[in-house]
Amino acid sequence: MLTLGFDIGGTFIKAVALRDLAVVGHGEAAVRHESLEALCLQLADLRRELDPTSEAKAAGVAVAGLVDKATGRLTASPHLPSLRNVDAKPRFEAALQIPVSVMNDATAAAFAEVRYGAARGLSHVLLITAGTGVGGGLVLNGEPYEGASGFAGEIGHVPVEPQGDACACGKHGCLETECGAYYLVGRARAALGSGVHSSLEKADPLDAAAIFEAARAGDYFALNLIDRAGSALGRACAMALQILDLERIVIGGGLARSADLLIPRIMGAARARTFGEIFGRASFVAAELGHQAGAIGAAATAMQRAR
Ligand SMILES: [Zn+2]
Repeated sequence: MLTLGFDIGGTFIKAVALRDLAVVGHGEAAVRHESLEALCLQLADLRRELDPTSEAKAAGVAVAGLVDKATGRLTASPHLPSLRNVDAKPRFEAALQIPVSVMNDATAAAFAEVRYGAARGLSHVLLITAGTGVGGGLVLNGEPYEGASGFAGEIGHVPVEPQGDACACGKHGCLETECGAYYLVGRARAALGSGVHSSLEKADPLDAAAIFEAARAGDYFALNLIDRAGSALGRACAMALQILDLERIVIGGGLARSADLLIPRIMGAARARTFGEIFGRASFVAAELGHQAGAIGAAATAMQRAR
C-alpha cells in the first residue's frame, strides 16, 4: 500500500511516499505563505510528483503548531498564518483527493522514531523536540497519542520553575523558558552583559551551539547554563514518566546534537524524582531521524489508520 506524508513547517513542506514500511520517494518545496489555496496547490503538486498514478489511498499531514485533529484547525502558529483558524482538513482532502489525517509535527515525528528510528519496536515513548522552542509527541500502546483534541504531548509548556521567566505562551517558568535555545541564548547574553566572565564573551555568533561548545571545553558559566537546562528537562521527564510509565524518552530537535551533554543531566534530575521501578525501565536516547521524521511519521500514521 502506498501512503503519503507531508510535514508543513515554517519554511519548507517535506513530503515522503511510503510503500508498506519502506520510504520510496521524497520531495520538498518552500512553503507559500500567501494563502491556504497556494499551500493546497503545493500539496497537490507534491502528490503528483510522488504518486503520478494516483495510487495512494491515504495521506498524513503534520503541521508545526497546536492543531485540532478533527478539523485541521491550527489554533496557535506564529509560522503558518495561512492555516490559522481555518478548517484545513477538508481543504487538504480536496487538494489531495484522499482521506487525510492532520496532526502535530512532533507527534508524527515520535511515531516515526518508533517505526524507523531511536525507539524501534517500543510502544510507550515520548519524543521531546528541543530547539529554538520545545515541543513533544507521544506514542502510547504503539499508536500516536493525540489526546482529546490533538494537543497532547506539549511538554514544552509544562511548568518546571514556579518563579521562572515569562514564556511566549503567556505563562511563567515553562520547560521552554528553561531549556529552549532562544531563552538559553538570551540568558547567556544577559549574564555576559552584566559582567559575567566566560569564553562566550568571544563567541560569534553567540548561539546554542556556542554555549554547548564552551561547556565541552570546560567553561564554568556555560556548564551552569547546560546544568540548568538539563535539570529542567529532567524534571519534566520525571512528570511524564510518573504519569505514563514510558519505556523510552527520545531527545530530538537542534539540542539533540548535544545529547551527550544533556542526557546525563536529564537522567540525574529525573532519577531523583521518579519511582525507582518506573525510572529503572526507562531509557533516554538521542533521536535518530532527521528533518524527514515529521513527514515519515505522518505517512506511517495514515497507513496505520487506513488498515
Ligand atoms: Zn509556555
